Amino acid sequence: MPLDSWSSLAAGEQLVLESLFWSKAASRHEIATRLRQSKSKSNAVVAALIAQGLVMEAGQVANGAGRPAEMLRISDNLGVLLAIDIGATSMSVAVLTPNLAILALHNEAVDVRDAQQGPAVVLARARTRALELLARRGKKAGDVLGIGIGVPGPVNFETAQLVNPPLMPGWGDFSIRDFLRDSFRAPVFVDNDMNIRAIGELRQLHRTVSNFLVIKVGTGIGCGIVCEGKIYRGATGSAGDVGHICVDINGPRCHCGNVGCVEAMAARPAVERMAAEAMERGDSEALRRHAQKEGVLDLAAVGAASREGDVVANRILQRSGTLVGQMLASVVNFFNPSHVFLSGSIVTIGPLFLAAVRQSVYQRSLALSTRHLHVQYSSLGDTGGITGAGVLAMQELLKSRSLR
Ligand SMILES: [Zn+2]
Repeated sequence: MPLDSWSSLAAGEQLVLESLFWSKAASRHEIATRLRQSKSKSNAVVAALIAQGLVMEAGQVANGAGRPAEMLRISDNLGVLLAIDIGATSMSVAVLTPNLAILALHNEAVDVRDAQQGPAVVLARARTRALELLARRGKKAGDVLGIGIGVPGPVNFETAQLVNPPLMPGWGDFSIRDFLRDSFRAPVFVDNDMNIRAIGELRQLHRTVSNFLVIKVGTGIGCGIVCEGKIYRGATGSAGDVGHICVDINGPRCHCGNVGCVEAMAARPAVERMAAEAMERGDSEALRRHAQKEGVLDLAAVGAASREGDVVANRILQRSGTLVGQMLASVVNFFNPSHVFLSGSIVTIGPLFLAAVRQSVYQRSLALSTRHLHVQYSSLGDTGGITGAGVLAMQELLKSRSLR
């Protein structure tokens, strides 16, 4: 289905498609109710969308004592989305359906901090992987509807341009949009990697939660902000840069030049460093065993030791969680979110980290901000970035139709 086929959508059709996208699937009755339209008007729009191949029937669900309701969703035949999630030290590339099901996914190590690699090298690799993934599913570049990309730096969303990214030498003047548009002829949307996680979470929640934070603990620590149902990017695109909030004035020096930043003390490298020191001191047999088994003492090894009940591994993860919670307490007092979702590799290591974050947040935040506060792991797990990049692409595609 070429992109042009939905370039002339009526306003009512665009509303129905948006409603279906954000709810993942809905019955005719639900669509009419949500859009506050008469059943006959809404059904006529749905029928037109099905006739054009933009919407498909997706099976029946039980509907109490009444007739089973036919569920509708955006047609998978429309084409595919490309999602690229670039972190400081890794990159994920995926091909998704318009409904965000992952058709093919590839992860690999990259280092955007390395000036030798630079944007042209990293993006050429992303493009090669994307073409391989498309081919694996029998698709080609022309099937791509839109491309969503997350990058670990501040982004001017309108121009899709990174703005003085501190971690990414050479990326500031480089047009990611032009580079990829030449290969795919599809619109390219670029945003900060935390903003794409936040928008991914927003769809996961069917837009039912309006004020929340997504915290990622990985190589660094970042925060995506949803305020009144929208991504909040700030004046210059750097909102949510919480990694350099000080949690210990006597703490170690951070790469930013300050001391005691939560990122320097609680992110993955800090956890791995503390584990290595404990192992060298001979404090933990479990850490030594897992490091030997995996060939490296990484976060996964610390998690495995912790789940076995190793006291040293537990203490390290608890300390990291407590510091993240300490930082979060200030942010929660300031922003008063209803939910905080934790994401990144730390999510995979078990419940202990989450328990430590919770305890620290509730201890330090004001009662008024925490009365209805939920702190939990993101249900998107480690595909939050990929899902979010897909949501960004689809949302912006649908939005662009409403201008007609
Ligand atoms: Zn710092």
